Amino acid sequence: MPEARFDLIIIGAGPAGHIAAERAGALGKKVLVAEKAHLGGVCTNQGCIPTKTLLYSAKLYAQARHSEAFGVSVEGARYDIAKAMAWKTKTIETIRKGIAYQFRTHGVELATGSARIVGRAGGLTTVEVDGKQYSAPNVMIATGSAPVVLPIPGAERAMGSTEALEISTLPKSIVVIGGGYIGMEFASYFTQVGAKVSVVEMLPEVVPLLDPAIARVLRGSLPDADFHLGAKVLAIEPDPANKAGHVVRFSKDGKEQSIAAEAVLMSVGRKPIVDGIGLESVGVEFDRKGIRVDDRMRTNVPGIWAAGDVNARSMLAHSASRMAEVAVADMFAGDAAQAGNAPSAQVMRYNAIPWVVYTYPEVAGAGMSEEQAKAAGRTVTTAMLDHRANGRFVAESDRTRGMTKVVVDAATGVLLGVQMIGPYSSEMIAGVAAMIEAELRVKDIREIVFPHPTVSEAIRDTIWSLKE
Ligand SMILES: Cc1cc2nc3c(=O)[nH]c(=O)nc-3n(C[C@H](O)[C@H](O)[C@H](O)COP(=O)(O)OP(=O)(O)OC[C@H]3O[C@@H](n4cnc5c(N)ncnc54)[C@H](O)[C@@H]3O)c2cc1C
Repeated sequence: MPEARFDLIIIGAGPAGHIAAERAGALGKKVLVAEKAHLGGVCTNQGCIPTKTLLYSAKLYAQARHSEAFGVSVEGARYDIAKAMAWKTKTIETIRKGIAYQFRTHGVELATGSARIVGRAGGLTTVEVDGKQYSAPNVMIATGSAPVVLPIPGAERAMGSTEALEISTLPKSIVVIGGGYIGMEFASYFTQVGAKVSVVEMLPEVVPLLDPAIARVLRGSLPDADFHLGAKVLAIEPDPANKAGHVVRFSKDGKEQSIAAEAVLMSVGRKPIVDGIGLESVGVEFDRKGIRVDDRMRTNVPGIWAAGDVNARSMLAHSASRMAEVAVADMFAGDAAQAGNAPSAQVMRYNAIPWVVYTYPEVAGAGMSEEQAKAAGRTVTTAMLDHRANGRFVAESDRTRGMTKVVVDAATGVLLGVQMIGPYSSEMIAGVAAMIEAELRVKDIREIVFPHPTVSEAIRDTIWSLKE
């Protein structure tokens, strides 16, 4: 017999789970969150937050060593990995406390332990956590994702991103297998703290969907990294010349090559967590690519939603949180409509989700790349502008590159996509996403005033540089 009945039970307290809990709690709903590890999920504990904390410390270190041009000389700058890790841990704890505070504020209850669905009857789904059963008419699955491990000999010799965030000594050399955004962030981090980095990527270019010109600038901005593109990793073996080291063997252009390094990081993607959570017990449809959902995050089973990485529609923290809001709006649509805030029309839109690669310099984008727009049958006009004429950029950058590219629908003049590289890109891209979401046209954006001097003016200048 279930111990208690809730309006909503959520499995997983990552960006999907905890935001759903807070939104439903704010509507006055009785919410239970089941979490087997820590509040905040992968994002807070092994993903977004720890990586960005370490990347910030590495950026400070790089700036300390390279600030002579600005009249600042720092002697004896030193990177202390133990202190950087301690700051990372403190940051994670602060974020976790913030989520716990939000739970208290919204009356959200927490059940610590591994949860699984055990059945659904009479419009109620029963979820078991640590031997106790709870029931609710609404259940949201937000179990997230786990790293993919390549099925190659010696794969166990490589660290995953989680282990890389716990190292106590810095390797002098590292091979990063996978040049996606996570691999590139680690490559950027390790180059900045003094390691020799080699990135081995199977695709012809790093970071899928990145404009080729921006990708080239990004690779060129990591001077202590070499890139092996179009290269398939075959095995990781012990290094005969260094007992603690490794050799990564790969094939490229039909030839076999190898790189020796003190450490290897494997970062080749993530897969949704769909096993062991009782999906079969209630007939929720899923496959290896995740739980199948519609644009309101509904699964095929009424009363069960799935949001975040577990449905693999967009594996980013802010996508997970937005999906959670859409799901909550859908499940409590009637109530909110009565409260004068009818959210029932909400659906998940993926066309303007911003993304960021927190390398140094940063890369960010929103909307379609030129390649995507053309593949979707759009006729586009594009413009690309170097930031060298941007006052703020020039004042603050002696070593970094910056550029912005815009993609516009040729027929309507509507902005379809923007990609940028350079300082502040991560902070500017939300504004771009809003323009795309609002379907602003070139002529609308030309009428917007941007503050001077800011790097954001590069967006406006690139728009102005479009040929009519
Ligand atoms: C190294 C790295 C860096 C990243 N950087 C960024 C970034 O900068 N920006 C960005 O947007 N995204 C980033 N991501 C991706 C981001 O972390 C995920 O998209 C996001 O965490 C997904 O949120 P979620 O709520 O779906 O799942 P998760 O955050 O994975 O949370 C799922 C939670 O469910 C819990 N859980 C699983 N199964 C059960 C169960 N049976 N019972 C109870 N609890 C369970 C887990 O313990 C976990 O806490 C990064 C990921 C990694 C690995």
